[in-house]
Amino acid sequence: MPHRLVLLGAPGVGKGTQAELLCANLGACHLSTGDIFRAAKALDPSERTPALTAALEHMRRGELVPDETVLALVTERVSCLRCEGGFLLDGFPRTVAQAEALETLLAREKLKLDAVLSYELPLEQIVSRLSGRHTCPGCKSVFHIEARPPKVAGICDHCGGKLYQREDDRPESIRVRMEAYERSTAPLADFYRRRHLLLSISAEGSPEDIFKRTMDALKCSLLVMTVIGPDRPGLVESVAALVAEHRGNWLESRMSRLGGQFAGILRVEVPVEREQALVAELRRLESRGLTVVVQPDRPEPSTGSGSESVLEIVGQDRPGIVREITHALASFGVNVEELETECASAAMSGETLFKACARLSIPASCNAAEIRQKLERIAADLIVEITLAELPEPPRS
Ligand code: AMP
Repeated sequence: MPHRLVLLGAPGVGKGTQAELLCANLGACHLSTGDIFRAAKALDPSERTPALTAALEHMRRGELVPDETVLALVTERVSCLRCEGGFLLDGFPRTVAQAEALETLLAREKLKLDAVLSYELPLEQIVSRLSGRHTCPGCKSVFHIEARPPKVAGICDHCGGKLYQREDDRPESIRVRMEAYERSTAPLADFYRRRHLLLSISAEGSPEDIFKRTMDALKCSLLVMTVIGPDRPGLVESVAALVAEHRGNWLESRMSRLGGQFAGILRVEVPVEREQALVAELRRLESRGLTVVVQPDRPEPSTGSGSESVLEIVGQDRPGIVREITHALASFGVNVEELETECASAAMSGETLFKACARLSIPASCNAAEIRQKLERIAADLIVEITLAELPEPPRS
């Protein structure tokens, strides 16, 4: 599943390192506006547009580059957003105006963000991390004079490049950048919180610790739930809206109206950190007359390769049909995976016909002929027709 993510966090929380780790693991496209500006610095001044030259001046002072310049750069790279493995936006958006522009851009591409990862770290740790940070101009690896020193001082472990301190990592720029972050970027957290996209992740500890926390936050839970309530329009929609609001994925469902009640069983996938909120809100539907039961989906360990069969029963309705047949099936250890039954009026005689169709899972140890014989005996007693046919194996992909 592609991941379309935004990385948020004050300068120095380690977004760049997390972006690298995430890209390597998720196969997503990394788009860092800071890297684009730094690459532009290496260009011959004659190759830079006036907007880019002005942007670099803002950057040198630790200020934010104007929104129009940033948006023009991102729009030029819109193909990154279409990357099949998803994308990681690092350093963009940085203002609410940029976030709104991103929303428009994504809507035009018919894409949606999956999550916004907000890395959080106390201010004093941020300053210490930034002022000791040294970067490789060649491969962009980042070292820290205390926390992650290179093997040879001043030299990149990976490509031998001469490490340098970014202009904007100098103490006077750090102060300006932190102010710019507080003023413009922190409101983004609220923007994405309101859209239920924000995942707060502690940025304390080693890059590996933070990465593990990130992957845990992105994991999904599988839930199975049943919903039952008086039949009325909009019932499925209210459940579907809650699942979507919590960024859940509706995987499969069976729903039916019986009598005046509507009931359904469904299986959904939901990001781990949304699970409790989703369950709580589903429970709140009870005030509207719905009964919701939620259970974790824990697939049973496979009990070896059995076979699947379809059982059909048609006959005059009489009490005890379902009990007699299910009792016989249970005595062979056969599992009823699906069962649909109905009582209908026979076309000619007008008497009540009972019809059932079941999907059965028959253990490999079972003798299908014995099951058939037993069912035929019941059929004769009850004067119903019973057919048991093996389901063909699903085609292997
Ligand atoms: P970063 O590497 O993301 O910390 O970015 C380094 C610098 O590039 C920032 O301090 C800004 O001057 C500039 N910059 C990068 N991305 C943006 C953005 N989305 N909006 C405004 N300025 C940006």
